[in-house]
Amino acid sequence: MGALVRAATSPEAARPGSRPGTNLAALRAFAYTIPTDLPEADGTFAWDSTTLVLVEVEAGGETGTGYTYTTEAAVPLITGALWRAIRSWDPMDAPGAWRAMNVAVRNVGRDGIAANAISAVDTALWDLKARLLDQPLALLFGRYRDAVPIYGSGGFTTYTHKQLSDQLAGWVERDGCAWVKMKIGTHPEEDRERVRIAKDAIGERALFVDANGAYRTKQALEFAEIFAREADIRWFEEPVSSDDLAGLRFIRRHAPAGIEVAAGEYGYDTDYFRIMLSSGAVDVQQADVTRCGGYTGFLQAAALCEAHHIDLSGHCAPSLHLPVACAAPRFRHLEWFHDHVRIEHMLFEGAPRPKDGMIRPDLSRPGHGLEFKFKDAERFRVA
Ligand SMILES: [Mg+2]
Repeated sequence: MGALVRAATSPEAARPGSRPGTNLAALRAFAYTIPTDLPEADGTFAWDSTTLVLVEVEAGGETGTGYTYTTEAAVPLITGALWRAIRSWDPMDAPGAWRAMNVAVRNVGRDGIAANAISAVDTALWDLKARLLDQPLALLFGRYRDAVPIYGSGGFTTYTHKQLSDQLAGWVERDGCAWVKMKIGTHPEEDRERVRIAKDAIGERALFVDANGAYRTKQALEFAEIFAREADIRWFEEPVSSDDLAGLRFIRRHAPAGIEVAAGEYGYDTDYFRIMLSSGAVDVQQADVTRCGGYTGFLQAAALCEAHHIDLSGHCAPSLHLPVACAAPRFRHLEWFHDHVRIEHMLFEGAPRPKDGMIRPDLSRPGHGLEFKFKDAERFRVA
């Protein structure tokens, strides 16, 4: 008779044994609320501050750092249920810890705050693993490319025409961006003029628009035709709600051929991307490493995009995306989002600076290469 082998029916049962002395030693989480430089709004939301939740994990004398943009309510979830789920994991096994965290939030709901929290911990675990190996994260993942194109993103609907023009022109002239994106949809009657002004400011470079789901389906199609004719718009993000897959697919089919429809920034799990991709709703899939389950979740979304022959674009948090953007097949570009760029340059040493419209990982730095400036951040701390 052979030995009875228990099937691995749960992540707990499947957990590989930790090597002696390699358990995670500690986890810490903090929240910082940083005021915006000017009031910001898009088609469906307005804000005057942004909260960054930072996670540190320790093992083997090294510290890994991850973060997400969410509410400070994520902090007790991270230091409670998520820490209990991962504390006995080997720090080399980030994907298994990711699975254990997903299981741990089943009864509180995985999407939203929990997914943001998991993303912050997962990115910290990958950073820790790379630092334990003294390798840059881009090389640990393995690269398809050594630099990533960025597109300038902001153009909030709260801006004056001059603020809008100056910001968009700055990304073209200072950073060499081939594309820039503006917000529309707060006051639809003003969008035609704002889009024309923005296009004038950037000349031959391509203009993207993001309605954040503000338009009705036929209204969005009408704007797509106007924007294509008057401003050569190439990218229409969330023309209707990203929950309305039939509406997105309708715009994608009927909009002028030069316009691509994009959505996906609220994807919190891999099924979300599978459903959006298989429904034919988008020309370019978006995903956000601070929401979709961190680097582990982002690589899963990237594999789905590869299988659907659809390009992937990274949403916001450009400094954190950079290493995994190099490692994702069919990666199109990364959103150089004004609010997050400002915060990341203020609070992280090693945050990338664009050159000729590209950012590239600094391979002389281990992990993702970012070091949080705790002293500078202290005045913003809320948890
Ligand atoms: Mg968007």
